Amino acid sequence: MAIGTQVNQELERKMTCITCPTGCQLEVTRNADGELSITGAQCRRGEVYARNEILDPRRVLTTTVRIRNGSLPLLPVRTTEAVPKELLADAMRILAKVEVTAPVRTGDVILPNILDTGIDVTASRDMKRAEDAF
Ligand code: SF4
Repeated sequence: MAIGTQVNQELERKMTCITCPTGCQLEVTRNADGELSITGAQCRRGEVYARNEILDPRRVLTTTVRIRNGSLPLLPVRTTEAVPKELLADAMRILAKVEVTAPVRTGDVILPNILDTGIDVTASRDMKRAEDAF
């Protein structure tokens, strides 16, 4: 998750690049023409990260859904790609209503094309049926 600090909502923002463990402190400014200036990145990937964070922020959604007759009551799931941040709350509301039935294998599609994004939600782990767990 990005660690961003809103300094000036329109013109300046500080954030930590999370692309690698170095964690460069980035400073992004936008001039009156809408052009972005990014400083603090030790490599090009930081500039790409900052640009995406400003223009199209996305996150991989990881959560759980209920599973019927599973060895555990909840199944960890994740989106196959990062989802636009503004859709995360709606995606969570949809997944809160989902219930699957064990057994499930890692990578099984739990919910295809969530919110018409073309992105699937898949199981993050295997889940046996309760009677097969031990
Ligand atoms: S800017 Fe480059 S070196 Fe710095 S944290 Fe991002 S990816 Fe790592």
